[in-house]
Amino acid sequence: MSSPDTHSVRDFEDDDELRHYCGVFAAIGGGEWPSPMDVAHTICLGLVALQHRGQESAGMVTSKGGNVKTFAVHRGMGLVSNVFNEPSMVKLHGNLGVGHTRYSTVGGSEHENAQPFVVHTNHGLLAIAHNGELVNALKLRKRILNAGIGLTTGSDSELIMQILSQPPPDASERDGADWPARIRNLMSLTPTAYSLVMMHDDTIYAVRDPFGNRPLSIGIVLPPNGPRDPSRPEDSAEGWVVSSESCAFKSVGAQLYREVLPGEIVALTSSGPSTCCIVPRPFPVDPAFCIFEYVYFARPDSIFEGQMVYNVRMECGRQLAREAFVDADIVSTVPESATPSALGFSQLTGIPYAEVLCKNRYVGRTFIQPSTRLRKLGVAKKFGPLSDNFAGKRIILIDDSIVRGTTIGQIVKLLKDAGAKEVHIRIASPPLHYPCYMGINIPTSDELIANKLNPNQLAEEVGAESLIHLSVEGLEAAVRKNIDRSKVKEIGHCTACLTGKYPVSIDF
Ligand code: SF4
Repeated sequence: MSSPDTHSVRDFEDDDELRHYCGVFAAIGGGEWPSPMDVAHTICLGLVALQHRGQESAGMVTSKGGNVKTFAVHRGMGLVSNVFNEPSMVKLHGNLGVGHTRYSTVGGSEHENAQPFVVHTNHGLLAIAHNGELVNALKLRKRILNAGIGLTTGSDSELIMQILSQPPPDASERDGADWPARIRNLMSLTPTAYSLVMMHDDTIYAVRDPFGNRPLSIGIVLPPNGPRDPSRPEDSAEGWVVSSESCAFKSVGAQLYREVLPGEIVALTSSGPSTCCIVPRPFPVDPAFCIFEYVYFARPDSIFEGQMVYNVRMECGRQLAREAFVDADIVSTVPESATPSALGFSQLTGIPYAEVLCKNRYVGRTFIQPSTRLRKLGVAKKFGPLSDNFAGKRIILIDDSIVRGTTIGQIVKLLKDAGAKEVHIRIASPPLHYPCYMGINIPTSDELIANKLNPNQLAEEVGAESLIHLSVEGLEAAVRKNIDRSKVKEIGHCTACLTGKYPVSIDF
């Protein structure tokens, strides 16, 4: 599969790809308000950096802070660059705000489902943006409707908002809402999967579910000349940001401060972040951070568990070379997210790396429906063969995953028609066998090619000389090899779509 970085709205129908649900971003000015940090433009740029996590809609809600009567809200369908323009940015003033970019499967692709959501509570306005999918959404939905509360969208994010709008059963709220208690109540009702940014009064809450299934990081915005006291950068902060991925920090002049821990509720004010509490998992198991963030979803310059995604992908390539070596003339990749794995494979084996496919980055950016003849050209619309690099040669072609198996055969044919002598496919992740219920749109089990053909059969079907996947053990070893265990206390990854072992029972 190719990198998700360059996808556009609904250019996916024929693709063999996995989809994210969402990315979230928040910003709050530091020190005295009005904030010197341009909160709205900071959030907009942050969302652009998270565009690969969702391309169907985007939105932002900002506030001056305090118990305001209204938030500034702007949401729309399409890419971040389609949704926001200078007139819309002018009204998005304030000292703090939350933003969201979305790809839908739950709730449909409609304006009413665009986030962040805003709700009036008896303790003021609340804005919320969500990345993930609630494993027990249907039960929660029934519970809320049975309580006589109406719902206006099909989105599970609205369920989160409605639960947070209610005081917990054992609450003793007198002067104002105890938001950490409300969030703890949410966590007791639904264990995973969510990373949230919420805005109320003068505070942004950054929340990660107890299994830490979706990522969330905090960034610090420092003055251009650096902090007054490098040992206490917090004292000089011009602002704070929260993002699904740390790749967004550099683009807004921030740097990674730390990741939000599984189960952690962080309150960010103009004075900086403080931990309200860390909610334990309902039973003693390891966290379940989505391993596919490393394999495919995240931008390679993002950092999870203290390590850069790019380096993990390289290690996956090295591990694949240990497990599935074959002699060949060149190692190459289906651009772009498998490129680090191909480089790792090349590095370990000494087989030179060479590019074999040139990707058209703009192929999805059209709504023109091609004729049947042109539609049949398939991946040729997306990739051009760099035949001078491989004619007469044996190629090891690295891809990051195979989902339905609808494109890999076309790529092999493209290469062989252009003169490749042999094509050996190596996949830098194990076969996908099971659906995901935690925020990734994986096709049904019947549609997954690994449930129809074993790797040898698939190689024959697609016209390749061989096809081998990285093992589950190999993927876990590559992901965990360079985690600094003195800094990351709890390590655990969800591999449910590969193994069928879900971190919690899937509650329909
Ligand atoms: S099932 Fe797969 S895609 Fe879903 S959270 Fe687990 S590892 Fe990620």
